[in-house]
Amino acid sequence: MAQAHKLDCESAAADCRFIIQSEDEAEAIELAKQHMRDVHGKDYTDEELRSKHLQIV
Ligand SMILES: [Zn+2]
Repeated sequence: MAQAHKLDCESAAADCRFIIQSEDEAEAIELAKQHMRDVHGKDYTDEELRSKHLQIV
C-alpha cells in the first residue's frame, strides 16, 4: 500500500478537526498551507509543514 502524507490539524490547533490525507506530498503541503492561511491566518513554510505537521501513514 502506498504511503500517504497526512496532516491532522487538531495537533496544531486544538479546536480544528481538519484532516488532509494525500499520497502526493506536494499536494498535501499545498492543501495544508492553504488551510492554515485561510482558516487560521498562519503562514507556514513547506519545510515547517513537512517537518512539524505532516505525518506519514
Ligand atoms: Zn485547521
